[in-house]
Amino acid sequence: MSGLQGKVAVITGGSSGIGLATAQRFVREGAFVYIFGRRKSELDQTAALIGQRVAAVQGDVQCIRDLDRLYARIREEKGGIDVLVANSGFIDPQLLVDTTEENFEKTFGTNVRGLLFTVQKALPLISDGGAIVLISSIAAFKGIPKYTSYSATKAAVRSFVRTWTAELKDRGIRVNAISPGAIDTPIIDAQSATKEGADAIRASFKAATPLSRVGRPEEIAAAALFLASDESSYVAGADLVVDGGLSAL
Ligand code: NAP
Repeated sequence: MSGLQGKVAVITGGSSGIGLATAQRFVREGAFVYIFGRRKSELDQTAALIGQRVAAVQGDVQCIRDLDRLYARIREEKGGIDVLVANSGFIDPQLLVDTTEENFEKTFGTNVRGLLFTVQKALPLISDGGAIVLISSIAAFKGIPKYTSYSATKAAVRSFVRTWTAELKDRGIRVNAISPGAIDTPIIDAQSATKEGADAIRASFKAATPLSRVGRPEEIAAAALFLASDESSYVAGADLVVDGGLSAL
């Protein structure tokens, strides 16, 4: 199968976890992929791992100049974008009583403001008939202690999908979200100061998930491929839940 043959894709956060798996899958399916993130070492490692039809651009989704630089480069090198996966995300779990201004601003700055301008700045380049995939989370519609800021950002992402589907329909651009459940990526480790703590988070999600395990990043990449390709040509404004049944029961 080569569902993205000849397509140009952008994946923010494409150097780790879900974004990395998606970049690998998209290149295997024939796309040229731009990956974007802050850490140069991770970007370089990912580009070397993928090896072909990949370009790494260092930058922060919170910085408009970085986004402009990303898209200026793509305009010059490729002329346009067929698929945008807005995947970069940040979490620092804090109870409501402990939530700091810094936590609130960084979480909303990355997951909401950063995602909004990632998409807005790409619009002139996205081809009519293109696909935008936003990475939300089942946290958007679950009550999970310590996820005050994070869950609210992901609910905002779900809302963006509806508004942007309406705004972009005349260009045939399909906008959809994916809501992953617990997926085994570095973002789980980032939620605890110790390995034991991170393993406890994995164990609690595993226990709550009907399929009795956390998910693999490749399983989200498969959903992203579906929403990015013509296989989902009649899917718009949707939120595809990929969570092993966690939010269903
Ligand atoms: P991850 O491995 O930690 O990846 C996060 C990616 O986002 C990294 O590549 C990181 O790169 C990038 N990023 C973070 N802040 C950024 C910024 N300011 N500018 C540009 N890039 C930035 O975690 P992941 O699990 O793959 O997360 C990917 C997405 O899935 C996130 O939106 C997350 O909220 C969502 N999600 C994850 C899970 C899960 O259980 N894993 C569940 C539901 C939803 P740099 O640090 O180098 O910038």
